[in-house]
Amino acid sequence: MNFDKKVALITGGTSGIGFSVAKSLMKEGAKVVIVGRNPNKGEDALQKLKQIHSDVKYLSVDISSSNDVRQMVRSTVSSFGKLDFAFNNAGNSEGKPALTYEFSEDDFDKMMGVTIKGVWLCLKFEIQAMLKTGGGSIVNTSSLDALVCSGGTTAYAAGKSGVNALTRAVAQEYGTYGIRVNTLTPGAIRTPMIESKFRDLPKEQASLLEEKYKNLNAIGRIGNPEEAAAAVSWLLSGEARYITGQNIIVDGGVSFIS
Ligand code: NAP
Repeated sequence: MNFDKKVALITGGTSGIGFSVAKSLMKEGAKVVIVGRNPNKGEDALQKLKQIHSDVKYLSVDISSSNDVRQMVRSTVSSFGKLDFAFNNAGNSEGKPALTYEFSEDDFDKMMGVTIKGVWLCLKFEIQAMLKTGGGSIVNTSSLDALVCSGGTTAYAAGKSGVNALTRAVAQEYGTYGIRVNTLTPGAIRTPMIESKFRDLPKEQASLLEEKYKNLNAIGRIGNPEEAAAAVSWLLSGEARYITGQNIIVDGGVSFIS
């Protein structure tokens, strides 16, 4: 894959899967904008990515804010001239699993703000930019919770199911305009998000959870962010030019084992 002259925007690019995708695209020559809320995390990620090459920028953005997202796309285009690829990946889990009646309305609204509205806003403004140059390729990050139940994750599961629906709807609308949209569904991938789940539990329970994640899949281990990034880079690339509206599951086989 040669991404020379390609411009990519990656939400949640300051950490975990998004950061790995930034590295992978930049190694193939892409100019990249990474996005996250926390400027310290952003600066740290930026310095690491600059070791690959210097065409990289960090923007502090909350994807649930329409002004932030509009400005994010504007700023990407004004820095690098256009937008070819977008990885709409920013997200957070619900923290500790909570049953539906224990989950507050405020937390539900926040979850929807990031998972559904945030991805929708990104798509809205990215598509406008991509249409100006004849198209582009987009990947949205979902979760296995959109396909199967893990318990105590109602709002997250609902939000991520919406991401799958958004992908298909937008893929259908813009296929003939040269825009492809696909979903990445990661299984357990070792990122700060999953590490924080282990950290929040007493040591023994954390080891049990880690063992469970390993034993649930066919490969027998937790995935690493580079393995998810490889799928995203390929989906974004011209190699996947006849693939749109699809959900690519990178889970070591969890989803097909009963
Ligand atoms: P991570 O390492 O915690 O990274 C999350 C990224 O999203 C960070 O860059 C974070 O930056 C950013 N972010 C969160 N909320 C944001 C907001 N409102 N606006 C802008 N940026 C925001 O997590 P990860 O594991 O790589 O997760 C990436 C995606 O994969 C998420 O959508 C997650 O739901 C999904 N996923 C992960 C796993 C897994 O096992 N790791 C499994 C299934 C799905 P700031 O904190 O600075 O905002």
